[in-house]
Amino acid sequence: MCLLRQTGKENGLLGKSLLIRKPPVELSFPDGKKGKHKMNILVINCGSSSLKYQLIDSISEKVLAKGLCERIGSDGACITHTPAGGEKKTDTIPMPDHNAAIAAVIEKLTDPEVGVISSLDEINAVGHRIVHGGERFSKALLIDDDVIKAIEDVSDLAPLHNPANLIGVRACAKLMPGVPMVAVFDTAFHQTMPSKAYLYALPLEYYKKYKVRRYGFHGTSHDYVSNRAAQILGKKREDLRIIVCHLGNGASVTAVDHGKSIDTTMGLTPLEGLIMGTRCGDLDPAIITFLMNKLDCSAENVLTILNKKSGMLGLSGGISNDFRDLSRAAAEGNKDAETALQAYALRVGKYIGAYAAEMDGADVIVFTAGVGENDGAMRKRISDYTEFLGTSVDPEKNKIRGEEVILSRPEDKVVTMVVPTNEELAIARQTLAIVGSKDVN
Ligand code: ADP
Repeated sequence: MCLLRQTGKENGLLGKSLLIRKPPVELSFPDGKKGKHKMNILVINCGSSSLKYQLIDSISEKVLAKGLCERIGSDGACITHTPAGGEKKTDTIPMPDHNAAIAAVIEKLTDPEVGVISSLDEINAVGHRIVHGGERFSKALLIDDDVIKAIEDVSDLAPLHNPANLIGVRACAKLMPGVPMVAVFDTAFHQTMPSKAYLYALPLEYYKKYKVRRYGFHGTSHDYVSNRAAQILGKKREDLRIIVCHLGNGASVTAVDHGKSIDTTMGLTPLEGLIMGTRCGDLDPAIITFLMNKLDCSAENVLTILNKKSGMLGLSGGISNDFRDLSRAAAEGNKDAETALQAYALRVGKYIGAYAAEMDGADVIVFTAGVGENDGAMRKRISDYTEFLGTSVDPEKNKIRGEEVILSRPEDKVVTMVVPTNEELAIARQTLAIVGSKDVN
């Protein structure tokens, strides 16, 4: 018998419709000039039992405070709050639901000791990360009842994520009525993909009836990182063919051709593509029924294995999903850890080659996210597959961690570089752009 059980029945979290008022424009822009007036933007990334937040100053783009609520709805719920320049502190606070979590965040932000604002009025807008926008959303937009309904409508495409994201939206609307809120979608940047890249080779009616297609994720990161890479190189993104390797616990590669996503490794869900921390990435779909028979379990149980027990964790024989542990184990002679690291690099290398073929070459390869920013050894393993494109990695520069750095030589045909991602800042910028636009009036 398969012992795993799918527990995530978060679909029941959707509540009643809310009327979210559009803000009086003088609230945020007394001088009427877009972007000139300082705003504090609260960025919320809400999961089913966790909530990450950052308060960002729109002028300096500095993080005023950030934190994380964990175990929401369970015993031992806690909030970890870090004010800029201050110490990180974790407090255990009862948080029976997301309303309580948002209330705890507001309390921390306005606390006389660890707070950074004196009252709620100093939060001028909220930017929400929303995982799935389906085909409807190709850019960020101001949240109102119609947008909430549309996000609900595509929730069957991301049943673990969208309902949780909406809980965060509703909790903020309740506790901060009148504060404008913006939805920023992980899928939006990839809506420029052509049908030849997003269609699966299934009967076409499944796309037409059920919208089964590649959507892609990490769009906010791929957009931000490709933009920043072009900026660092002093070029326009519209003049470049960029391959972005977002290698975190979740991981994806995107081909950004002259500013547009034309292909990406994640699919209908974030399970496809690269080998990830605990997700398998690409595999033969027949493996699912094969395992159902062998393990005598349901398709859902196998999907849980593919999402949570596979990837680097599974391939290494259960050592870890963390690349630091895997590198240590491989250095100590563990063959499974070494094979897992080799398989990971091979998969990324394959996709870089494929995307270079799709764009008739590449100008820039960018590494980002936890592994991409910090793991020089993995960057080197991957770059060994890309030498044929005309790029190299300087061993000294490759020791740098978590910073913007060009790893290749000036004479190389293709630039290889590291650009740390900053999804929260990207969400804050998109929120500001929308709240500052005329539509809000
Ligand atoms: P996500 O946002 O998808 O949860 P991150 O982008 O934060 O993930 O990446 C987390 C992963 O990055 C960790 O699981 C670990 O494998 C890897 N990582 C973080 N720091 C290092 C490091 N110094 N060296 C190697 N890998 C690292």
